[in-house]
Amino acid sequence: MSDKTLCINVARLQSRLQCLGEVGALDGGGVSRLALTDADKKGRDLVVSWMQDLGLDISIDAIGNVIATLKGEQELPCIMMGSHIDTVSTGGLFDGNLGVLAGLEVIETLIDNNITPTTPVSVGFFTNEEGSRFAPDMMGSAVLSQVLSLQTALQTQGIDGAKVEDELKRIGYNGSAEFTNIKQDVACFIELHVEQGPVLDEQQIDIGVVEGVQGISWQEFHLTGISNHAGTTPMQYRQDAGLVASKVSVFVNELASLMAPNQLATVGALTLKPNLINVIPNEALFTVDLRNPNESELQKAELALQEFIHEQAKQHGLKVEQKILARFQPVHFNPKLVDRIETLAKQNTFSTKRLFSGAGHDAQMFAPHCPTAMIFVPSYKGISHNINEYTHPDQVTNGANLLLQTVVDFIS
Ligand SMILES: [Zn+2]
Repeated sequence: MSDKTLCINVARLQSRLQCLGEVGALDGGGVSRLALTDADKKGRDLVVSWMQDLGLDISIDAIGNVIATLKGEQELPCIMMGSHIDTVSTGGLFDGNLGVLAGLEVIETLIDNNITPTTPVSVGFFTNEEGSRFAPDMMGSAVLSQVLSLQTALQTQGIDGAKVEDELKRIGYNGSAEFTNIKQDVACFIELHVEQGPVLDEQQIDIGVVEGVQGISWQEFHLTGISNHAGTTPMQYRQDAGLVASKVSVFVNELASLMAPNQLATVGALTLKPNLINVIPNEALFTVDLRNPNESELQKAELALQEFIHEQAKQHGLKVEQKILARFQPVHFNPKLVDRIETLAKQNTFSTKRLFSGAGHDAQMFAPHCPTAMIFVPSYKGISHNINEYTHPDQVTNGANLLLQTVVDFIS
């Protein structure tokens, strides 16, 4: 089987994206379907009804992950597609939803063309990818990946005080299906997603061939000096925590330039005390977000930051306290699968660019256990987690057709 002319039904996919976007729709556009809320239940019910219409085998596990499977000729490990359908409270119609509905569209296209795949083909949506209501994010896929225990996930309390376990029961998604064993049951995992950044849109590129997810290092620093009169304390006698915090802001920006283009660095939160116009700050509390697709480079950046802060603190007579808030190593997708996706994209005369994902995705939970890759399509102006998130129908079509061809290539 090498049907290169096989194409998804664009109108059907677009209509499903719109239909799902009406569940939890916000005035003025966009959608709010926080994980395990009534709106999430309605969205889940709708997608499950589409899965049922296609006669797929549907399994729901104890963390509420839903996986629908088209049987193959043989009971081999499946090729799985998927993403999430929960959103942030001011979300768009594409983030996550595209990967799920395009996966469903791929399966329906196979059915329409009377193709029985050699291996089973599955599409899943995973609980609480966004993490806006319950932390951590990527909760459903993290449980599948055994990075997070089911018990810990179920006991998680949300920002509104609700517990995951109770909410799963309440909306009827505390399933009893066995957890998918990624290593044994999944031959490969592919997630189509909108880029959520500006690169593809700005450079007018059709397809992002995703090589992995960059590593993240989140740290918090607390500097303590001495507050004093801004008018009477000569500059050389100051122990100014605010000054050093500002120097750190500039330093990490320069560090990113030195380590360009891969290193990103941001001081995102900064609080000074007492925060008054005529008082030298005695306290500065700030965060540093460092990201890099290369682990040793990320460590190099962490070390440079560490040395700079301690040297500055010593010079200005400050005390430093340091806390690690989060640390994830970079994830590298399967090189063969990444190459294959790139080749297939080029055969379609799509323009392509290799890149690393700046955001976390369910796919990174699959990557340690089975060959995994992602396909990105452009986000208009890079806008995401925003009601104005938009991907043009032609770009949706390109991504979904490439997903289809990758699956067909795999099952042929
Ligand atoms: Zn997403």
